[in-house]
Amino acid sequence: MNNRSFNEVETIILGAGISGLTLGHYLNNRDKDFLIFESSKYIGGNISTKNKKGFICENGPNTILINNKSVQNLISDLKIKNDIIYPNNNNNKRFLLKKGKLIKIPQSFTQFIMSNILSLSAKVRIVFEIFIRKSCNSLSVYDFFRRRFGKEFHDILIEPFLTGVYAGNTRKMSIKHVLKKIWELEQNYGSVILGFIKKKSANISPKSFNFKNGLSDLTNKIQQKIKDKIRFNSKVTSISKIGNLYEITVNNDVKYRCSKLITTIPAYALSEIIFDKKLSQILKKIYYCPIYVLHLGIEKQKIKDDISGFGVLTKPSDNKSFLGIIFNSRIFPHVAPIDKDLMTVMVGGTRQEKLLKTDKNLLFDKIVSDIRKLISYSGQIIMKHDFLWEKGIPQYGLDHDYITKEIKNFENKNKDLHIMGNYINGISVSDCIEKASILSKRL
Ligand SMILES: Cc1cc2nc3c(=O)[nH]c(=O)nc-3n(C[C@H](O)[C@H](O)[C@H](O)COP(=O)(O)OP(=O)(O)OC[C@H]3O[C@@H](n4cnc5c(N)ncnc54)[C@H](O)[C@@H]3O)c2cc1C
Repeated sequence: MNNRSFNEVETIILGAGISGLTLGHYLNNRDKDFLIFESSKYIGGNISTKNKKGFICENGPNTILINNKSVQNLISDLKIKNDIIYPNNNNNKRFLLKKGKLIKIPQSFTQFIMSNILSLSAKVRIVFEIFIRKSCNSLSVYDFFRRRFGKEFHDILIEPFLTGVYAGNTRKMSIKHVLKKIWELEQNYGSVILGFIKKKSANISPKSFNFKNGLSDLTNKIQQKIKDKIRFNSKVTSISKIGNLYEITVNNDVKYRCSKLITTIPAYALSEIIFDKKLSQILKKIYYCPIYVLHLGIEKQKIKDDISGFGVLTKPSDNKSFLGIIFNSRIFPHVAPIDKDLMTVMVGGTRQEKLLKTDKNLLFDKIVSDIRKLISYSGQIIMKHDFLWEKGIPQYGLDHDYITKEIKNFENKNKDLHIMGNYINGISVSDCIEKASILSKRL
């Protein structure tokens, strides 16, 4: 502390989730003067692994995609390549429900044609995609797929898949921002199918991974390296601009000034403290849907059905008490004792907001009863762990172009104030790592 009423530091980062930690890691490598302020007493934000009775439970993300160089660079820089665990590829299948029973999603074109996952007319309808003119405006995911591939294709294949990622409503999601690569194929080649054929490199299922002790291995490793730079229990309660500097107030008390400010906190949190009223209103438009995550440890021997796969996703017409279930220990055997299985059940999203208001014990009974029927399970629930994200996953809605444009305008008006996080330019952990890595080079 100097003799003024504020502390000075060159760069301040708000939030110690993967975005803030990645930034911190790279600034630390370059001996930069910086501090990270984190409102909770933990690092990691959405990345949160809990070990219970020998089960490794992920409250937030379960896997990280290797879909960009920045992820690989961060892992090598932290020297944790050897701690990576790749999924058991033999069990990488996904399931959907048909008449309440698990059915495997075909993994090749021939399997798809032979399967009864779609009706014959829906399969024929797909071929007509190549004749449909490209869309002019940014459509919703629902309108895009209904128009190009037919409603059945959307309802059976697209809606469950996106529920697994965003837990949102495909009628309100922007195709341009949610499935950017697909949208670009249509825009560049006039047809998604022709685009796939011409651009053979289009990879829609990149590899993913976890770590020996869960994804928190990654955030813990960064924490070890920069722990002196992180201020825990330090909620930033206001941001103002004083000349060319930015001033933050921590816990309504201590003030800090900096010339470079990066915020990685959620949009709703930033909207409460930012000095610009217009930006605050815009950030409030971003809706975060709630997600309840329930981990169940069960006895392997007592499961009758074949659940060797990544997991199952549901569609609204399945009328289930969950959005999806990940069969964690089938893809990552190390997350459960050898004779047990770990499952992660996801409930909520925009589709099941009401269900989340149900009494917790009743909801638990309903989920377990649904699961028993689904996989013919007759054993005990030997481990239970749950977590509620009241504001879980930000939605990239139809106004997303406007939102990102206004955020950019604000950044242009306020030199060295950067807004990032999972609500713009990509939601996945790998997107957050990439954005933070790129930005760190400019600081
Ligand atoms: C249930 C769930 C499942 C997911 N599954 C996957 C998956 O399988 N794969 C994948 O790639 N992605 C997944 N995601 C998305 C991914 O986890 C997140 O997008 C990513 O981790 C966000 O990181 P972040 O650092 O940008 O933000 P956050 O992790 O939200 O971190 C922001 C930090 O800011 C802190 N903060 C908030 N307000 C303040 C304040 N006023 N002052 C100081 N600090 C503050 C918070 O405490 C938090 O630590 C999932 C997300 C959820 C919720």
